[in-house]
Amino acid sequence: MDRSEFLDFIIKNKKIDKKVFDLSKKITDFPACYSILIKLDGSDFINTILNPSSYGEIAIAGGDIKKHNEFKNKDLREKLLKFIDDLVERAQENFTYQTYADRNEDDSNYMTIGIDLGTTNTIASYTDEDGKANSIPMKNGERILPSVVAVVKGKSKKLKFEVGQNAIWQQKNNPLDTFYSVKRFIGRRTSEVSPSLIEKYPYKIELDQEKVGISSPKLKRRLEIEEVSAQILMTIKANSEQFLGKKVKDCVITVPAYFDNNQRVATKNAAEIAGLNVLRLISEPTAAAFAYDISKKGSNSNTLVLDLGGGTFDISLVRSEGTDLDSFSVIHTLGERELGGDDYTSSIEKLIIEKMKGSESTINLDKNVLNLIREEANKAKHLLSFQEEIELNFPHLPTSSNGIVSFSCSLTRKEFETSCTKINDQLASIIKKFLAVDKVKKNKFTKVVLVGGASRMPVFTNLVKNLTKLKPQIDINPDEVVSHGAAYCGKYCVSAVVEKTIIDVTPLTLGVHTLGDIYSPLISSNTALPTRKSKDFTTAKDYQTNVDIRVYQGERKIASDNIFLDNFKLFDIQRGKAGIPSINVTFQIDMDGILTVTAIDKSTKAKQSIEITNSLNLGYEEIEKLKKEAIEMADEDIQKKVYSERVNELFNWKQQFDDLENKKISTKDKLIIDKVETCIDKIHKSDLD
Ligand code: ADP
Ligand code: MG
Repeated sequence: MDRSEFLDFIIKNKKIDKKVFDLSKKITDFPACYSILIKLDGSDFINTILNPSSYGEIAIAGGDIKKHNEFKNKDLREKLLKFIDDLVERAQENFTYQTYADRNEDDSNYMTIGIDLGTTNTIASYTDEDGKANSIPMKNGERILPSVVAVVKGKSKKLKFEVGQNAIWQQKNNPLDTFYSVKRFIGRRTSEVSPSLIEKYPYKIELDQEKVGISSPKLKRRLEIEEVSAQILMTIKANSEQFLGKKVKDCVITVPAYFDNNQRVATKNAAEIAGLNVLRLISEPTAAAFAYDISKKGSNSNTLVLDLGGGTFDISLVRSEGTDLDSFSVIHTLGERELGGDDYTSSIEKLIIEKMKGSESTINLDKNVLNLIREEANKAKHLLSFQEEIELNFPHLPTSSNGIVSFSCSLTRKEFETSCTKINDQLASIIKKFLAVDKVKKNKFTKVVLVGGASRMPVFTNLVKNLTKLKPQIDINPDEVVSHGAAYCGKYCVSAVVEKTIIDVTPLTLGVHTLGDIYSPLISSNTALPTRKSKDFTTAKDYQTNVDIRVYQGERKIASDNIFLDNFKLFDIQRGKAGIPSINVTFQIDMDGILTVTAIDKSTKAKQSIEITNSLNLGYEEIEKLKKEAIEMADEDIQKKVYSERVNELFNWKQQFDDLENKKISTKDKLIIDKVETCIDKIHKSDLD
C-alpha cells in the first residue's frame, strides 16, 4: 500500500468528509491523514508532531497542550507534556539549513567563516590550511566585535550605521539611536515580549501587530531587528574579507539551543540581508563541544557546556556519537535569560560607589561619574580574573562644591567575590537543578567545557568545579570557542562536497537499518583503516525473538536510500518487551578493507556475524556521485528522518502507556491511544518493507 492508497483507505474507512481532508492537506501536506485521524478525537496536536516541516509549530503545540484538558488522567497528561518538551527540544536542535547545493565549490577565491552572533559580542573564525580554527581580528586588532549598532550622522551630515566599539563610544550622547542586546528581540513576536524587558532599554522598542522592531529617531522609521543584526554581520563580513584577502559568501552561524523556528529564520534573514549565505545554523553548545572534540577519534562522549555571557547563562549537555557534526546533539538545556557577567560588573560598581561615599571628599555622583564608574568596574572585573588585587584610579572627579578631586582605592578579588554571593547562589541553583534532571543523570558527562567571556572568573570556575566534581576545560579561549566550532562546522559542510577519497579510508559511511527505515551510521566516511566501532541497539516489538541486521553504505539519512551491502539474522535474543533487549553491533574493517559485522545479544550471548568484502570497491566517480546526491537530497532526507523518528517516538510514547502502573485511563484517553496505535500500524505498513 503506498501513501496515496493509504490516504484513500483512511478516507473510505473512517468516512471522512472529503472537504476536511482537502483542507488539512492544503495546510499540512502529507501528514494530513494523521490530522484527520486525530481530528476525529479532537486532539489535533499529534498532527503537528508528525509533520516534520513544522518545527516552530511543535513549540506552539507544546504550549497549547499545556492548556489542553483533553487528558483527564494525570499520569497520561504528565507523560504527554514530557514527550512534547523532548520533541520541541530535539526539533529545535535539528533545525538547520543545508544549502550546500547552491555553492560554487570550485571558486578558490571564496572563504567560509563561522560566526558567533552573541547578545553582547560577535566573533568570526576561519579554518587555516592545517584545518585549525582561528579568530579573525577586527580592524582595531580586537578579536571581539561588540554587538552594538548605532545610527549616527557622518561627516557629510548623512546618516550612517556605526558598529562595535565605535558605537559604544558615542552611546552616551546618542542613547535613543544606539541599539545593543538586540539578540533578545530577534524573531520574537509582539506577544512574546514582556513590558519589563522593553523598559530595560533606552532605545524605543516598537511593537506592531506581529513583530518586535526598533524605532530610530534619526532615521525617522522603524528598523526591523534583522536589519540591525545584519549591520553586525555586514561588519563581520567586510572585516573578514579584508583580513583573509578573499571574498566571504558562505557562513555558519551559531544560535542558542533554545532558539525557536522564528528566531532561527530571522537570524538567517539577517545574514541574507548582509549578503551571507547560511550553510547551517548550529546551536552554541554544539559548536563548543564540536570545537573541543574536533581532534577526538570516534567513540561516544557527553560534554557539559556552561556558557556565561554578558547577560545570559546557559547550561547544556551535548552528546556526540562520533566525530562528524551530525552525530552531535543537545540532550538537555536550561538557562537564565537575565543573569550574566554584567551583573558581576554591577556588584563592583556598587563596591566602588560605597568606597567613594566612605571617602572624605564629597564626590558628586552625577551621570558622567556613574558612567565612568561602570566602565572602570568592567575593567576591574576583567583584571580580577587574573589578579588577586587591583588599584582603581579616578583622577578628575567633581565634588558637590564644584571642585575637582582625585580618588583611588584598591579592590581585592576576595572583596569582589563576597559582594556577589547572591549571583553565585543563583547560578549554583540553576546548575544543581540541571544536574538533577533524569536525562542528565542518565547520560553521564565526562567533560565540562566553559564558554562565554564571564566564565573566566575564578569564582565561577570554582563553583562549576565544586558542583560537577570535574575540572572545567578552558583550553580554548571561552570568548572564541563557539565561533571556532562554527568555523569547523563550515569546514565540515564544505568538505562534504570537495573531499577526495584516499585508499586507506572508508569512502562512504557504513551503518545499519533501524526502525522506521532510519539509517544508523557506525563508521563515518573517511575513517582511517583499520577501524572498529560498536553501538547498542534494541528491539522494536514486544517479545521479538530475532532481529534482522541490514548493512548499508552511503550518506543518506534513510537506510533504504543507501547501497544495501548484506544482511543476517540474529536469533535467540532475550525475550522481553520492546526496548529491553540490548544487542551490540560491531563493525570492524581491516587493512584490506574487509568489513566484519558482528551482533551479540548481551544477555543471552547469542552471536552472529558476516564478512563483507565489497564495501570499498566503489570507483572515485561513483563515490563522488553518491556524496553529491546526499548533499542535494539533504533537506528532503532530514525531513524524512525526522518524520520517521517522530513516528518511532509516537510508538514509544504509546508503549509507555501500556506500562503505566495507574491503569485508570478514561475511555476518551483510551480512544486516542488506540488511534495512535492504529496510526502507527498503518504508517509502518505503508511506509516500510
Ligand atoms: P555574549 O555571549 O552575551 O555575547 P560573551 O561571551 O562575549 O557574551 O561574554 C561577555 C561577558 O564576559 C561580559 O560581561 C564581559 O564583561 C565578560 N568578560 C569578558 N572577559 C572577561 C574577563 N577576563 N573576566 C571576567 N569577565 C569577562
Ligand atoms: Mg555567547
